[in-house]
Amino acid sequence: MLTVKLMGNKRLEIGEAPDPKPAPDEVLIQVKASGICGGEMHGFRGEKATGGNSGHEVAGVVADPQGHPQWAAGDEVVIFTLQGCGKCRWCRQGKDTFCKEVKIPRATHSQYTTSRATAMLKKPADISFPLAVLLGGDGLGVPMGATWKAGVKPGDITCVIGCGPVGLGMVMCQAFLGAKVIAVEPNPARRALAMKLGAWQTLDPTAVPDPAQALRDMTEGIGPEKVFEASGRQESVDLYMNATAPEGVVVIVGHGKQQLDPQRLIIKRNLTIMGNWICHPALYPRMLSFARSGLEPQRLITGVYPFMQAQTAFERCEAGLEAKAILEW
Ligand SMILES: [Zn+2]
Ligand SMILES: [Zn+2]
Repeated sequence: MLTVKLMGNKRLEIGEAPDPKPAPDEVLIQVKASGICGGEMHGFRGEKATGGNSGHEVAGVVADPQGHPQWAAGDEVVIFTLQGCGKCRWCRQGKDTFCKEVKIPRATHSQYTTSRATAMLKKPADISFPLAVLLGGDGLGVPMGATWKAGVKPGDITCVIGCGPVGLGMVMCQAFLGAKVIAVEPNPARRALAMKLGAWQTLDPTAVPDPAQALRDMTEGIGPEKVFEASGRQESVDLYMNATAPEGVVVIVGHGKQQLDPQRLIIKRNLTIMGNWICHPALYPRMLSFARSGLEPQRLITGVYPFMQAQTAFERCEAGLEAKAILEW
């Protein structure tokens, strides 16, 4: 099969690789659409050639059900990014996230991949393959999960720090729910995308001497009530520590080394700090319902590229020019 190979220093090659061999609990999937995740940029920028790819957000067609009676060749499927064992306490709640035997689809920027037979659903006819990638994967799962966790409602003033694909997804979901969203992001292209997805205001944190004060100035001196950290940077911690309104909520989804001073948060500000790790398959029915109730999550997909143009798609993601980009066969 053909697959994307990360060659280091922002270079990709498309080359041959052996077809994946499904484990006994897996089926063989012919990939139709594969999402590029913000988390993959590290490997793309890095110097090391990995010779493979870390695509994991995928939708496709069952190529070989491998004897699993619930599937037939040709079935169009939504595939979950996090695939639990299906038997443990967490999996039975739809929270595969915490399953000790969780699997993730591998190297999905390829012609074929594998999926656990129990971690897929039939793709509804009104959902395109690229949209199915968002609904089954972390592309929409993380933004929705974080937004619901904080209980965002109409009239809330929220703040999203970092507008990569996940941050932009949160802007879109929260604006749809009626919140006034402030998007904090140094990259002007991403700030423009945030406005397009419904942000109320944007802030370039590098253009003002005190970003926390700037956020208070935008909110009648109070600060945003619900703040979402999606950059993984220490500067963000300092920003939400200083800017979040007392009694406010902070949800951390960004990956990176950060140091917290809980004394300041807990004693003096009464903040609630939450984490949100990827997404639960249990969120899927609600996401599908949102998708059909006017959210139009496909707005988050700013680029659908033929698989052979993966280099261009990755470059544009790395430059912050895309919200969510999808490779399509
Ligand atoms: Zn991802
Ligand atoms: Zn499990």
